[in-house]
Amino acid sequence: MQLSSNLLRFSESETIKMSKLGRELKAKGINIIDLSLGEPDFNTPEHIKEAAKKAIDDNWSHYTPVSGYPELKEAICKKLKRDNDLEYTPQQIVVSTGAKQSIANAMMSILDDDDEIIIPTPYWVSYSEIARLCRAKIVFINAPAATNFKITPEQLENAISDKTKLFIFSSPCNPTGTVYSKDELEALAKVFEKHPDVFIISDEIYEYINFSYSGGKYESIAQFSYIKDRVIIINGLSKGFAMTGWRLGYTASHPEIAKACEKIQAQITSGTNSITQRAAITALEGPLAPTYEMVKEFTRRKQRVAELLKELPNLKCTEPEGAFYIFPDVSYYFGKSFEGEVINNSSDLCMYLLNHAHISTVSGDAFGQPGFIRISFANSMENIEEGFKRIKSGLEKLS
Ligand code: PMP
Ligand code: GLU
Repeated sequence: MQLSSNLLRFSESETIKMSKLGRELKAKGINIIDLSLGEPDFNTPEHIKEAAKKAIDDNWSHYTPVSGYPELKEAICKKLKRDNDLEYTPQQIVVSTGAKQSIANAMMSILDDDDEIIIPTPYWVSYSEIARLCRAKIVFINAPAATNFKITPEQLENAISDKTKLFIFSSPCNPTGTVYSKDELEALAKVFEKHPDVFIISDEIYEYINFSYSGGKYESIAQFSYIKDRVIIINGLSKGFAMTGWRLGYTASHPEIAKACEKIQAQITSGTNSITQRAAITALEGPLAPTYEMVKEFTRRKQRVAELLKELPNLKCTEPEGAFYIFPDVSYYFGKSFEGEVINNSSDLCMYLLNHAHISTVSGDAFGQPGFIRISFANSMENIEEGFKRIKSGLEKLS
C-alpha cells in the first residue's frame, strides 16, 4: 500500500505504545503493573460528573462553536486571572480535543517548512513528532541532569538563529518533573525579548501538580509583558482534574494565533465535544479542593518513591518538583544481560522490564534523553510498591 510519506517523518507515540503493549499483555492474562502512562488514577470529581449528566439531560447535544462555548472561554479567562494573574479575553482562547490538539494547532499555525523549533531535552514525546509532521527543523538544547534538566539563558541564546520561529517547553516538565522558578523564567524571557520573531509555547498542563504549590501562584512565562503577545499557553483538564478521557485542552494566545488555531480546528475536528465543554465550566469555576487532595496524594507517593529509590542505588535520579514522573539514569545496566539478552540502551531495559518483570515504563530515548527511563507514579500506592519490587528484582537479575 502506498501511504503518505508524511507517515515516515515522525514516530509512533512511545508513551501510547508502551501502555498499549501493557494492555495487550494484560489481555493475555499477564499481571502487568503499568507505570508507563502519565494519567491520574483518580476518578473525575463528583460535581464535574454531575454537570456532565445534567448537560446530557439539558440537550447540549449540538455542534458547539469551533473554539468553544463562550461561557467556557469566559471561565478559562477567569481561571487565568484567578490562578495566574493573567489578563485574557475570550477571543484569545481556543478549546480543543485535549492539550495535545492544542499543541498541534499552535505548531501548525506557526511553523512553515524548514523553520527552526527549539526544544530543550528531555521533552514530552509528542513535541518533536508534531514538529516533524509540520516539516520544521528541530534544534535540541540539552538540559542535563546536573542542572536539574533546566536550560540556561546562554544555551537559549546560542540556539536561536534567524530561522528560529518557535520554542516549546513544559514546566512542570514531563518527563523530569522540573519546575522553572520565576527568576529562571525571567532570564529566558529576557533572551526572547531580544528576538521578536520567536514564538514560545508554554505547556502548563501540570500547573497544579506542583509540589511547591501551597495555594501560591504558579509561575507562567506569559507574565512577562514584553513577550506575552508571543506566548501561547497550553493547558487543559486531563491532569489537574483527572479528566484524561474527556479530552479538553485549550490555548491562550494573541487573538491572531487564536484565529489561526480555530481555522485549522474547523477543518479537522470542529471542536471538542459539547458535554465535556459544559462539564469543564463547572470544573474551572468550581472548588479546587479535589485537585489539592490529589496533589497531596501525589506528594505522598513522590516521597515513598524517593524511599524506594534508595533501594536501587544504581539508578541515579533527581527529585521531581512537579508532575508525576521520576526520570532515573539507568546507564549502569548497559552491557549487562540476562539469559543472553543484552541490555544495550534504555529501550532494551524497558522491554526487558516489561517482558521479564511485568512492569511497564517508558524509554528516555522517546524524550530525547538516552540513558534514562521514565517511571510514572500516577498509580495507586499498592501498585507503586509492587512495581518497584518488580523493578528491583528485574534489575538484580542483570549481570
Ligand atoms: N503536554 C504534556 C506535557 C503532557 O504530558 C500531556 C499528556 N497528557 C499533554 C500535553 C497532553 O494532554 P491531553 O490529555 O490534554 O491531550
Ligand atoms: N501525556 C501522558 C504521558 O506522557 C499521556 C500519554 C500521551 O498523551 O502521550 O504519558
